[in-house]
Amino acid sequence: MKVKKEINIEDILYQAKRKNKTINSKKILEAYEYAKEKHKNQLRKSGEPYIIHPMHVAYILANLNLDTETICAALLHDVVEDTEATYEDIDNIFGNQIAQIVEGVTKLGYLFKTVEQKQAENYTKMFIAMEKDIRIIILKLADRLHNISTLQYLKRDRQIAISKETIELYAPIAHKLGMYDLKMKLEDGAFKFLYPKEYENITNKLDEQINKAKQLLEKTKDEIKTQLRRQKIIASVKIETKHIYNIYKKMRQKKIHIEEIKDLFSIKIITNKKQDCYRILGIINTLYNLIPGTFKDYIATPRNNMYQAIHEVILGEKGVILEIQICSYTMNKIAKYGITNYFPYIQKGKIENKQELEFKNKLYGIHDSLELKNIIKDPKEFLNTLKSELLDDEVYLFTPKGDIKVLPRGATAVDFAYLIHEQIGRHIVGCKINSIEMPVITKLKNGDIVEILTSDENIKVKEEWLEIVKTAKAKSNILKQLKKEKQEAKKKKEIEILALDRKNLVLEITNIFAKNNINIQSVHTNSNENKVKIYIVIEITENKNLKKIINEIILLNNVIKVKEK
Ligand code: MN
Repeated sequence: MKVKKEINIEDILYQAKRKNKTINSKKILEAYEYAKEKHKNQLRKSGEPYIIHPMHVAYILANLNLDTETICAALLHDVVEDTEATYEDIDNIFGNQIAQIVEGVTKLGYLFKTVEQKQAENYTKMFIAMEKDIRIIILKLADRLHNISTLQYLKRDRQIAISKETIELYAPIAHKLGMYDLKMKLEDGAFKFLYPKEYENITNKLDEQINKAKQLLEKTKDEIKTQLRRQKIIASVKIETKHIYNIYKKMRQKKIHIEEIKDLFSIKIITNKKQDCYRILGIINTLYNLIPGTFKDYIATPRNNMYQAIHEVILGEKGVILEIQICSYTMNKIAKYGITNYFPYIQKGKIENKQELEFKNKLYGIHDSLELKNIIKDPKEFLNTLKSELLDDEVYLFTPKGDIKVLPRGATAVDFAYLIHEQIGRHIVGCKINSIEMPVITKLKNGDIVEILTSDENIKVKEEWLEIVKTAKAKSNILKQLKKEKQEAKKKKEIEILALDRKNLVLEITNIFAKNNINIQSVHTNSNENKVKIYIVIEITENKNLKKIINEIILLNNVIKVKEK
């Protein structure tokens, strides 16, 4: 996937067909002619004819395995927004699917123009679009990649806003989709404009380092190649350099100089089979010394974004420090292109069959960036959520701050409250859904922004909620609360009575309680000279009864004082 300087429609068709045999060239040509006609009098900020931009976006996508619909949509992606063409026009000429992708991208584009809008909100919109048709997001990422490469024609404030948003929003989404290659391009492209001085500084220093190490790196590479040939292992061996933005991050995080980065250079060895990876590892380890603590086997334990490879840092020829990365062709493809590897199987932008569901599960469920894990700490509950994920049976909701929460379809604001925190659920008195006050038992819909209204006081939980709430978390908490409330209602109380000692007084007192249906748990007396203190522990259900009882006791002969404890 390259951002080529000049491309024509033949390049796009060639790439698209090379990667995907189902490509409909005729339709793509039609889309191209239509877009060219619509944009004919428009220029980009660079002074180029406008059509150059959608063509680049289409070219990026053709390189990423995308289907006819997405490539057509890429060519047409700006016509609804920037020309007099309408959604209906696209629908009539190119069909519903393409029209919907174009519309999806147009809507996202519109939202993204309000820079002040919170990033979380944008993320949210992205996530919802992702749910709808994953191709919208991939087109949007390609659109951004081309825009980033032409940022020099914009004013400084726009450069900053766009590059910042690219690093904070677009790159993490590419990462989420496993599209590492695209992510890197977005980050490096944006970094150049966000911190031009740092970018230049790092590029210069990197060149210096490359020049210093070049010969030794080449020598190491050749030596590895020779040994692999001798062992009859087929593999490609190439030298790679860490990406600029990653160098910048590492230098900042570890507060180190570029010379101190151990994996600044790497030799990447890509082979056919998984077993060969370990054979290659054996060869490397006989040839060179390993730097202790640097061996990582991501084949045995893949990273969360499904990345698989073996990494280790070695001392190469004449002590040059470099990282060795070993993986298979398949692993390499997945690491670079993520979800787009699966495109031949993805129908209408929705992942449908079992294999893709598994992929989606891995990507959306276990992936690091959007962090379902953050929401669900209990592993059991996490598994349940993964299951409902597989059944495509959940709604995505948002806190007023823009945090994403996932609940099963049919869940209510009560579920939402308990999901945020037990104490929020405990004190819920109302809710606002999309800023409008609604009953707390309202079923929530995808994309709802839910604000829970709470009270400082303990709220009596409603038993009927048990029938309405969806999540185990809400249910168990409501049950717990109901039980607790019942117990509290049965609270024990100690009553202390001071009286002049006389016969039958205790009996008279206990009779009063019995008459009022109050259970006595224990009675103690403590006599002192002619006075007696009587301690009675009772179970009480209603407080107002107690006042009446105390008044009765006070009226008994020789009772001096009654105290509730
Ligand atoms: Mn565009």
